[in-house]
Amino acid sequence: MTVLKTRELTKRYGNTAAVDNVSLTVEKSDIFGLIGQNGAGKTTLMRLITSLARPDSGSIELFGQADEAGLNAARARVGCVIETPALYPNLTAAQNLEYYRIQRGIPDKSVVGKSLEMVSLTGTGKKKFKNFSLGMKQRLGLALAILNSPDLIILDEPVNGLDPMGIIEMRDLMKRLNEQGITILISSHILSELSQVATKYAIIHQGRLIKSLTQEQLREECKRALSVTADDAAKAAVILETELNIRNYKQISANELRLYEYLDNPAEVTFQLNKGGVRVASIHEVGDSLEDYFTKTIGGESK
Ligand code: ADP
Repeated sequence: MTVLKTRELTKRYGNTAAVDNVSLTVEKSDIFGLIGQNGAGKTTLMRLITSLARPDSGSIELFGQADEAGLNAARARVGCVIETPALYPNLTAAQNLEYYRIQRGIPDKSVVGKSLEMVSLTGTGKKKFKNFSLGMKQRLGLALAILNSPDLIILDEPVNGLDPMGIIEMRDLMKRLNEQGITILISSHILSELSQVATKYAIIHQGRLIKSLTQEQLREECKRALSVTADDAAKAAVILETELNIRNYKQISANELRLYEYLDNPAEVTFQLNKGGVRVASIHEVGDSLEDYFTKTIGGESK
């Protein structure tokens, strides 16, 4: 089921398009990661989706609703933490949530306790918000976003500035919410961070969507391998299977094999192939780290 669809969404500030012709689709139960450098347009895109900003052109569809009235109703099913939520420094966690429960007209009083439990803040008692750690503050922001039991939550850089422990807690929390069937749209400027939680990715650069890929595709892109270019890749595969017992490989083309083992011994691979009558044109390691991949992907586009 499609939760969110944007079509050629564009938002300009002066002469620059903060969001430029972005079409993307988020399916139910995705943890959809928007990755891009600072200024790429992630926040603006989220603000358009949640109606904090109006698009210049393009359209948004939420839970199948695309007209004004339908969209407004659908937005009631969305919880978000985009700008720092206005939480009151002198109120406790429960008091802050209670304030917003009343303000939003949520009749069920138990949502306060449930939300606090979900973000592991039930033990904070009389502690005031101003005395919370950054991690606790971020989690309370999230509790606010889930107060109305949303089906989609939108989180802008939720782990920004958190310490490693806080990052792990936030990540676990997102996974728990997702296991309950909540779809998540999350942004980050650090791909390796996002990759620990997201199931799909959209790479945004200078307002444009440059690439969409799934978790598996990203893994494949960033997997280290030994690329063997030879005159006959199929024959090479047979030789490597029989002589070196290599099973973990992929034939890329008629001339290229990728081996995911024997990375530490290309000489042996070359030797066996030569012995079997295959001519090796080149053999070298390929594959990027996540950050290298990200830099390469946006670098190739900015020219
Ligand atoms: P990100 O969230 O990826 O860091 P933003 O969406 O905040 O990126 O910003 C995208 C671009 O739009 C930036 O160049 C930013 O300066 C510009 N921008 C964002 N909001 C406004 C605004 N309200 N007025 C003018 N320019 C803006």
